[in-house]
Amino acid sequence: MLIKAVEGMEGTVYLIHLETPIAGHAQHYIGWAANVEARLYYHRKKKGAKMLAHAVGLGIAFSIVREWAGGKDLERKLKNRKKARLLCPVCRRNAEA
Ligand SMILES: [Zn+2]
Repeated sequence: MLIKAVEGMEGTVYLIHLETPIAGHAQHYIGWAANVEARLYYHRKKKGAKMLAHAVGLGIAFSIVREWAGGKDLERKLKNRKKARLLCPVCRRNAEA
């Protein structure tokens, strides 16, 4: 079962990079979880975020490429920047290549 986020609760903010962008969607997903491994398992089971469930349905691989220790407030801050690509080590590596 998913652990409900509590304001100020510590956990991990994670950045997911999709191998291929989904048409009409971004190529990244930022989320927060108390247990990232368990959350990734849920995502792969098409539970949780619709965008990732859609990716699974399309056979698009994705993985967590970056993590930050922090709470929901950090997740919100990073999401609001709307610059996930700049935070993504995979995209940055490709841009430099
Ligand atoms: Zn990326």
